[in-house]
Amino acid sequence: MTCRSCGGVASGLVCAYCGALQGQISHADDEQRAVEEFHAILARTTGADARLRLLQSGFVPTHPAPLIDAALRCVPLLDNTMTADSPVASATYARLQILAAKLRVIATTPEVKRALAELAPHLAKQRNAQLWAGFTNVVIGLGIALVFGCAGIIWLAGALQ
Ligand SMILES: [Zn+2]
Repeated sequence: MTCRSCGGVASGLVCAYCGALQGQISHADDEQRAVEEFHAILARTTGADARLRLLQSGFVPTHPAPLIDAALRCVPLLDNTMTADSPVASATYARLQILAAKLRVIATTPEVKRALAELAPHLAKQRNAQLWAGFTNVVIGLGIALVFGCAGIIWLAGALQ
């Protein structure tokens, strides 16, 4: 079978290369199996580029139960990533944001509301971590600029004597 999304060889419900859903899925149970397959693929994929591709183009479920499961399965992935500003962490966070946004649209059942309440602190923590990482980069950038600026002034002072 050829993947409809990337043209690669796909054998299961989910493409192992890009994470796209194969075929039409109408039942929540099938979609749940696809979520499990997606995360099994993600778990055995170790390369940063391959993980990034799966996280960025991985399918987003439409049924509430698999959607909740897909979102909750992102939380440990987020906690396991080493630094907040790594591309894989950003892609995991982006995927979780998409899943949470879709959950908010259908937030009519107590299960969905409970899942969103559970996700909220993780989303907030990641948002703060990314802000902090951005802030740290700015501080480091300013520090480097200051060092070079001072070195330039010292050099200039020496050259003018
Ligand atoms: Zn594919």
